[in-house]
Amino acid sequence: MMGTEKTVCSMCGNMIRVLDGGQTEDYLKIEKKWGYFSERDGITHSFCICEKCYNNWIASFQLPVSEQETTELL
Ligand SMILES: [Zn+2]
Repeated sequence: MMGTEKTVCSMCGNMIRVLDGGQTEDYLKIEKKWGYFSERDGITHSFCICEKCYNNWIASFQLPVSEQETTELL
């Protein structure tokens, strides 16, 4: 059974692929509730970005993203 909700990358419009075992490709999900001092007071924005678009996106940043390696606890 497929999930009821399809995740689509907002930048390129491609679907986030579902891999064997029901896992999806890794992707970035952003949810931002804009606050009082913003022009979008009280509005929540959310979108998903696939890994490929994420890579292109952060490549356009002036500063590199900070990076840490996660130690997996198994
Ligand atoms: Zn994309």
